[in-house]
Amino acid sequence: MNFEIVLATNNQHKVDEYRSILSKYGITLYSFPDLNLVMPEVKEDGKTFKDNAIKKALAAAKIVKFPVIADDSGLCLKALKGFPGIKTARFAKSCGNQINANQEIVDRLKGKDHHATFNCTIALVNLAHEPLIFEGVVKGKIVDEYNKENGFGYDPIFIPEGKSVTFFHLDKKIKNEISHRALACKKLITTLKVNNLI
Ligand code: IMP
Repeated sequence: MNFEIVLATNNQHKVDEYRSILSKYGITLYSFPDLNLVMPEVKEDGKTFKDNAIKKALAAAKIVKFPVIADDSGLCLKALKGFPGIKTARFAKSCGNQINANQEIVDRLKGKDHHATFNCTIALVNLAHEPLIFEGVVKGKIVDEYNKENGFGYDPIFIPEGKSVTFFHLDKKIKNEISHRALACKKLITTLKVNNLI
């Protein structure tokens, strides 16, 4: 069975990761550019990852006919009481670029607790039903020194629990098995299976 779904994002890193994770289950994932469409800018002013994920999924579902998934994700630092959390994307912008943001986090954590989590909340919307929500959290820690690598977002400064290298240096296949996004996808897959959609 081929289940088709649209991912509501302009972030090509997210598209690549979702495609790699979901293709194993016979799910065809379309990005907005695949459909010659542009994902509208959505003001991420919700109070939670869930609020923002639903907002993005609903905005996309007004434009495309397939079921839509959107995710809101971010890095939560224990020593900074969960900051930047839902403000993770805005924090990078406020630092000028991602390299500065990564450096700023490493600097702010000097001498402090380095524990962190990456959180991902997926909203699945098909307009006929209430949005369905799937959450994934991966624990880890922030590196002591940042070598100014430039990959997907905060990957170069996050070492997932049980591994000795950052998400940036980890084999992509492994990241896509253990990441916050992979964990949220596992729950999404279970729901699609239970409903005989895949
Ligand atoms: P969103 O598009 O509002 O979900 O923004 C998420 C923010 O978290 C962006 O700054 C991303 O770069 C960052 N982010 C989310 N997931 C990951 C990941 O898997 N690796 C690195 N950074 C991520």
